[in-house]
Amino acid sequence: MSKKEIPYKIYLEENEMPTSWYNLRADMKNKPAPLLNAKTLEPMGYEDLRPVFCDELIRQELDDTTAYFPIPDEIRNFYKMYRPSPLVRAYCLEEKLQTPAKIYYKFEGNNTSGSHKLNSAIAQAYYAKNQGLKGVTTETGAGQWGTALSMACAYLGLDCKVFMVKVSYEQKPFRREIMRTYGASVTPSPSETTKVGREILERHPGTTGSLGCAISEAVETATNLDGYRYVLGSVLNQVMLHQSVIGLETKAALDKYGIVPDVIIGCAGGGSNLGGLIAPFMGEKLRGERDYRFIAVEPASCPSFTRGKFAYDYCDTGMVCPLAKMHTLGSNFIPSSNHAGGLRYHGMNPILSQLYHDGLMEAVAVEQTSVFEAAQMFAKVEGILPAPESSHAIRVAIDEAMKCKETGEEKTIVFGLTGTGYFDMVAYQKFNDGLMQDYVPTEEDLQRGFDGLPSVPGHEC
Ligand SMILES: *Cc1c(COP(=O)(O)O)cnc(C)c1O
Repeated sequence: MSKKEIPYKIYLEENEMPTSWYNLRADMKNKPAPLLNAKTLEPMGYEDLRPVFCDELIRQELDDTTAYFPIPDEIRNFYKMYRPSPLVRAYCLEEKLQTPAKIYYKFEGNNTSGSHKLNSAIAQAYYAKNQGLKGVTTETGAGQWGTALSMACAYLGLDCKVFMVKVSYEQKPFRREIMRTYGASVTPSPSETTKVGREILERHPGTTGSLGCAISEAVETATNLDGYRYVLGSVLNQVMLHQSVIGLETKAALDKYGIVPDVIIGCAGGGSNLGGLIAPFMGEKLRGERDYRFIAVEPASCPSFTRGKFAYDYCDTGMVCPLAKMHTLGSNFIPSSNHAGGLRYHGMNPILSQLYHDGLMEAVAVEQTSVFEAAQMFAKVEGILPAPESSHAIRVAIDEAMKCKETGEEKTIVFGLTGTGYFDMVAYQKFNDGLMQDYVPTEEDLQRGFDGLPSVPGHEC
């Protein structure tokens, strides 16, 4: 198809929006390892997880065989407020790079929460509401997930208690106020309101908190309150399932114009947007129908794929969550301060971890200064101010396009633009002032994290 015939933005009609989520596990020969009870090391079943998670979400979490889960009408109606999201042909970026590559990005920042996280937030809030619960608890680091969940809970009339990592609570007052405007209560973590919070404060007075600690507080609060459950915005298989809406729409939009991608790129924090974006394409690859290259992009300061171990690990600092087998840096690994808050989690989704382990996917780690250089170039030519997280994918999309320039190959590159960066202006300021630094952990730093991995017989790394 000639260049002109493909619009800048490929929109789907409302009725072309997916009616089911796709569960990639159904097509995997090597399934992800089961969640284990952190104390007994026994696999966790439906009943074991019920005190913490919503019933329907547990079913989704544990289901390795059902390929399609119908999206309930109420969720689809909510999706219609901001979906289908556009698949954009980055003509201006291609022009700027003078590359023969064709670049597309799927833009998920077209909603107030500013990221793809709303796709799973509404699903999780819906199932909590459907179960007759009063509310949900969660943690948030940079604030995108907390914001998304607050919006979803407000829509459904559900109470929402957010534990926000203290440093973000203090440094990102505007995120906090959006959540409160949507009716959520926001507590800086660690807090005095939970046993685990008090313990952490006693051991580390003056700590500015971490995601792992906020998770422990949110889980404890949910299990102690009647009618509450805990929800999580990334890492879990159910989240990746909901995020498959991104990939299904991308595929439908590409199919409309007969476009077949060669390379699909996404940033990876806990893996949900990347997993959702690649799911239908990876499904084709697993079924032997078509081949694609998939690239996960992570920060060099928190390199779970490229330098982590494939092992069972704790999902939180307080060790109240199940153990998951994943690519991990160890639950007590604290990444040095980098500006992509959403990419600072120590572990990675178990499905993606298995696929990476099986050689079906690549990963690269990039340093933040080069990420912001890519972000700025993108903003200048494409107009959208990207989130620092998303800019990791931009960086590698540009790198791949530049390789095409050298070889003259007209590859088609698709990447996930997960969100906008309006609340990350302190980071942009540092970059603009030339004060941004790159942190790469040493082998010793990493070893300290690995030393804290639990030993699970038969799964030694
Ligand atoms: C949270 C977040 C991410 C990373 O989360 P994943 O679960 O890895 O997708 C990426 N981009 C943005 C904008 C985010 O808010």
